[in-house]
Amino acid sequence: SIPLSFFGGIGGASAKGILVKGSNYLEALAKTGCVVFDKTGTLTKGVFQVLETAPEGMDAQTLLGWAAQAECYSGHPISQSLKAAWSGRVDADRVTDVEELGGFGLTAQVDGHAVAVGNRRLMEKLDIQPAEPQKAGTVVYVAVDGVYAGCILLGDVVKEHAVQAIRGLKAEGIEKTVMLTGDADAAARQVASQLGVDEVHSQLLPADKVRQVERLLQERKDGRLLAFVGDGINDAPVLARADIGIAMGALGSDAAIEAADVVLMDDDPAKIALAMRISRRTLRIVY
Ligand code: ADP
Ligand code: MG
Repeated sequence: SIPLSFFGGIGGASAKGILVKGSNYLEALAKTGCVVFDKTGTLTKGVFQVLETAPEGMDAQTLLGWAAQAECYSGHPISQSLKAAWSGRVDADRVTDVEELGGFGLTAQVDGHAVAVGNRRLMEKLDIQPAEPQKAGTVVYVAVDGVYAGCILLGDVVKEHAVQAIRGLKAEGIEKTVMLTGDADAAARQVASQLGVDEVHSQLLPADKVRQVERLLQERKDGRLLAFVGDGINDAPVLARADIGIAMGALGSDAAIEAADVVLMDDDPAKIALAMRISRRTLRIVY
C-alpha cells in the first residue's frame, strides 16, 4: 500500500509545476545520486542567434535561404533560428523529400536542388569538404547539389536558472552532474564550464547518449539512482532507459513528455532540485 504522505508529496510538487507520474518516481527522485542533462533546450535556451555567416560563391541571404527552406518542416531549435535570420519567407510548396537525421541535420529537395543542412559529421557522410570555421560555437554547414555552400555560426545562451540548477543539485547531495550533447566539442565545453557541470560528452548521436547513460548506470553505488533530463524527440530512448526520466514540458516534444516519469511544466531546470527536496521531505530521506 502507498503511504498517504506520498499523495501529499505529489500534490506539493504539482503545485510547483512539477508533474510526477507515480509514487514510485517520487521515491526514485529522493534516491537520485547522478543527474545527466541534455544540453540544447534543457540547460541552454535552445534559441540560437545567427552570429556570422561564411558563404561560398553566393551572398549570406542566399545561403540562409537554402538552409531555411530545407529546414521548413523541422522543429529543431536550430531550424527556428535559421528561419528567423533569413529575410525571405519560407514556402513549403518548394520543398520535398525531407529527411531528418538525428544528431546530423537534414537533407531535402528545394526547387529541385539537393540541399543538406547540418553539422560537420553530416558533410563527412555526404563526402563534402567544409571550410574550417574561425570561431567556437554551434556551426551549421550547408551544401547544394553536392557542393559546399558555406557555414553559419550560431550562439546558444544558457538558461537564466541553469547555474542555480546545478548548484541546487549539489546542495541537495547529488554526487555527480553530467552533460551529454550532439553539439560540437568547443560549444559543449563552454557551456559546461559556465555551469560547473562535473562531466561533459560532446558530438554524440542519439544512440551514443543511450550508451553513455548505460555506462553511468553501471557506476551507481549504494542504491543511488540516475536521473536524465531532456527535451527532444531524440531524448525519448534515454528518458526511458534512466532510473528516472525528467522532461521539459513547455518546449519538450510529445515523445519526450510521453517517455518521461517527471515533467517540468515551465522548463526551469532549477525545479529538479526542488523536486528532490519535496520528495526527500515526503520520504524523510537525508543525504
Ligand atoms: P543536443 O544533444 O545538444 O540536444 P541534438 O541531438 O538535437 O543536440 O543535435 C545535435 C547536433 O546535430 C546539433 O548540434 C546540430 O549540429 C545537428 N542537428 C540536429 N538537427 C539539426 C537540424 N534540424 N538542422 C541542422 N543541424 C541539426
Ligand atoms: Mg536537445
